Amino acid sequence: MALLQPRPDACASTPVAPELRVDLDAVARNTRHFVGHTRVPVMAVVKADGFGHGAVSVARTALTHGATWLGVTSLAEALELRHAGIAAPVLSWLNPVGTDFGPAAAHRIDVGVPGRDHLDAVAAAAAPGEPARLHLHVDTGMTRDGCGFDTWPELVRAARDLERRGLIEVVGVMGHLACADEPTHPANAAGKRAFDAATDLARAYGLRPRVIHLAATSATLTDRSTHHDLVRVGAGLYGIDPSGTTRLAGALTLVAPVVSVRTVGAGSAVGYGHTHRTARRTRLALLPLGYADGLPRAASGLAQVAIRGRRCRVVGRISMDQIVVDTGHLRVRPGDVATVFGPGRDGEPTVAEWAHWSGTIEHEIVTGIGARVRRTESAATPLLRSIL
Ligand SMILES: *Cc1c(COP(=O)(O)O)cnc(C)c1O
Repeated sequence: MALLQPRPDACASTPVAPELRVDLDAVARNTRHFVGHTRVPVMAVVKADGFGHGAVSVARTALTHGATWLGVTSLAEALELRHAGIAAPVLSWLNPVGTDFGPAAAHRIDVGVPGRDHLDAVAAAAAPGEPARLHLHVDTGMTRDGCGFDTWPELVRAARDLERRGLIEVVGVMGHLACADEPTHPANAAGKRAFDAATDLARAYGLRPRVIHLAATSATLTDRSTHHDLVRVGAGLYGIDPSGTTRLAGALTLVAPVVSVRTVGAGSAVGYGHTHRTARRTRLALLPLGYADGLPRAASGLAQVAIRGRRCRVVGRISMDQIVVDTGHLRVRPGDVATVFGPGRDGEPTVAEWAHWSGTIEHEIVTGIGARVRRTESAATPLLRSIL
């Protein structure tokens, strides 16, 4: 965020250092896809600095293109949005019980509550005459965040009592599915049943939550019965579909300038541990980014980048600050631009490929780009022009 330097023409210029280019138009298109796919409001999930894309810019883009809520984990993330002047409803669902919840009430930020201790902490921070807005979070079978079923009745009863005293308002009930990326997984049906039972119980105890929400990206795309009153979309905004059912637009391009180029003979050992030896006389290019910048070391020996429109293998171990690329007989020169990953339209590697090479998921690649990589962004097409 601090490093974000908007430059409308950024994508046209030649980088002098590694640069992460955020295509907000892709975020806008993805947002519109979800808005058109459901009849209920869309919450844009912008946690972890908007999955590494810039929380404030993504939030503004998503709101302009039809999302009406924002979702984050920590209260600090929510406050960053408010301090940027964003007034839309914001839900923050993961905070230690010792968090100062006063600013949540003061800035009309909804908080997720997974148990009694949190309920009491949030209620204690409510200002007189202004009940704290909260969403009770039930564990629908993930055994991670959320209130277990055994203590749910007690939580609901306590919330009702605090609501009657005017200290809190139970705005919503939320759950989260563990296996929604596999639409036929039996845990989905079980999770939905548990969620229905939990919301029924909340109503039976006298609560009137208006915003019932369960679905994240995968369930939004694959199962309308999970949509309820709101869908919480994170990954999908950034072009990631864990369910593998929908083509969305990747929004990130990571580029780096070639620092130096050398011709070496056959049998040259490259990098730490000499894990690679050149098979023939070839040209090696050095790029100034490594695992400190988010290129997983686990991708050593597998990864590729694109230079001058051609795929080139990353050879030897990925170091902290640098990688070596075998460019064969390409006429590569210092200052040429390598594309580490991008949306794939020009044959460059994608985030999905980097995830595959690293034995991880796309989420981890996009959220892992290091702080010293300069961020630039290109603006979304104005809404009117994008519709015409
Ligand atoms: C991250 C998160 C989301 C968004 O999930 P995606 O699969 O990225 O859409 C929704 N709800 C909760 C509770 C989350 O932690």
